[in-house]
Amino acid sequence: MQYVSTRGKAASLTFDGVTLAGLARDGGLYVPAVWPAFTLDKIREMATLDYADLAYEVINPFVGLTVGEEDLRTMLRETYGAAFRHDAVAPLTQLSDQHWLLELFHGPTLAFKDFALQLLGRFFDEFTRDAGKPITIVGATSGDTGSAAIDATRGRENVRIFMLHPRGRVSEVQRRQMTTIVEPNVTNIAVEGTFDDCQAMVKDLFNDHTFRDQVGLTAVNSINWARVMAQVVYYFYAALRLGGPDREVAFSVPTGNFGDVFAGYVAKRMGLPISTLVIATNSNDILVRTLETGRYERGEANATISPSMDIQVASNFERILFDLADRDGDRISEAMQELSKTGGFELTETEHQGLKDLFVAEKIDDNETRIVMGNTLSGCGELIDPHTAVGLSAAQKRLGAYEGPIVTLATAHPAKFGDAVFEATGINPELPPHLADLMEREEVFETIPNDLRALRAIILGGSSE
Ligand SMILES: *Cc1c(COP(=O)(O)O)cnc(C)c1O
Repeated sequence: MQYVSTRGKAASLTFDGVTLAGLARDGGLYVPAVWPAFTLDKIREMATLDYADLAYEVINPFVGLTVGEEDLRTMLRETYGAAFRHDAVAPLTQLSDQHWLLELFHGPTLAFKDFALQLLGRFFDEFTRDAGKPITIVGATSGDTGSAAIDATRGRENVRIFMLHPRGRVSEVQRRQMTTIVEPNVTNIAVEGTFDDCQAMVKDLFNDHTFRDQVGLTAVNSINWARVMAQVVYYFYAALRLGGPDREVAFSVPTGNFGDVFAGYVAKRMGLPISTLVIATNSNDILVRTLETGRYERGEANATISPSMDIQVASNFERILFDLADRDGDRISEAMQELSKTGGFELTETEHQGLKDLFVAEKIDDNETRIVMGNTLSGCGELIDPHTAVGLSAAQKRLGAYEGPIVTLATAHPAKFGDAVFEATGINPELPPHLADLMEREEVFETIPNDLRALRAIILGGSSE
C-alpha cells in the first residue's frame, strides 16, 4: 500500500514511512493511494472475531508488507490485551431501544486515544529498531492525546517525547496524567496559549525541514495516519455486534480535530454499511458552520467543559476535503494557504454537497451538555463524561426520526472530567485503581510563552545531552 499527500507534492511512501514522517513534507497529510474495500460476505465473516483479530483484518491492508503477518498479529494481541481493562475492549452499553454507547475509555489513560496510541508506540519500536536513529515526538494536546501518547512511549529506548498543552485549559486529571510521568524521555510543556496555538507551533516545526531532519521529528497527533487507521476498527466492531453488515448503523462522534469521525468515513469507504455520521461539537463549531454555509472559517476558541474538543482548526478536515475535491492536491494547497492567510476558504458546490451527503453536524453548548449528563444518569443509571454527552445529545437531536441502531462513541471515562460530572450530576466519579493516587503524585513540567524559539530551545537542549 502506497500513501500520497493531500497536497500532491510530497513523495509517496509505504506505511513505515508515513508512520515515522507524521506530516508530509509539502505540509499535507498522508492518505492511502486507494481505499481498500471488503465485500459484504467478507465483513459478515468477521462477525465472530474478537477485537484483536478483527483489528488484524481491518488494519492489515493498510500496513501491507511493512510488518510481517505474525508480528502484526502479536502486536495487536499485546496492544488490545491487559492494558485495556475490559474483556470486550470496546463494550457496547444499551441506553434505549435503539441507542447504544460504545465505551472507548477502558485503556490505560481513560480516553479513546489509547486505541491508536498504544499501537503507535509499538509501531515506533518496530520501525526504529533497525534504523538505529532515535526519533523525537513533538505533539500538541487538548488533554487526552498527551496522556495517551506519553503512556504509550514512556521509557521506550529510541523515542523522546515533548508534549505541549495549553496552560490552564486541560482538566486537572488530564494534566496530572501527563505531568506525573517522570521518565527521562518525557518532557511536558505548558504553553501560554490555546490548543490551536500549540498545534500551529508543532506544524511550524514540521515545515522547518532542517530542524525536522536534525532531530528526527515524528508526530503523534491525528495528522499521523496510523492513528486514524487504528480507530477504523471499532466502527466495524460495533456495527458487527448490532446486526451489521446486514443492517445500517448510525454513529454520533464527539468531534474536535475530525480524526475520529474521519475514521468512521474510512470504515464506510471500506464497505461497512453506515447510514449517517453525526459530527457532534461543543460551542467550537467550525464544522457545523461549514456544513451549513459551505465556508470553512476559523472562529474564536472557547473554553468549554469538554476541553478535548476546544479546537477551531480541525486538522483532519484536509483529508476529507481531498476526497471531496477528487483528490486534487493543488486545490487543497490553495485552500490551506487561504486558510492560513485569511482565516477561511470557500468550498466548491460539489465539495459542499459531498460533505452534506456524508455527514450531519450539531453543536451542543455547555448547558445542554450538563442536562444530558443528568438525564442519562436518571434515565439509564449511566454516568457519562461531557464529551460523550455532546455526542449523545447531538444524536438525539439529529436522529429523531431514524429507525436503525444508533451508536454514540463514549470517548472518555467520567472520572477524567470529574469536576464537570460532579457539577451536572452531584456524583464524584472515582478514578480506577491504577490511578487512585494520581492527585498525590509529584508533577514536573516547563512553562513557555506562545513562541516557537522557546520550544526549539527546549528540544535542542534536550538533544545535546
Ligand atoms: C480527542 C477527543 C475527542 C475529539 O476527537 P477528534 O479525533 O479530535 O475529533 C473527543 N472526545 C475526547 C474525550 C477526546 O479525547
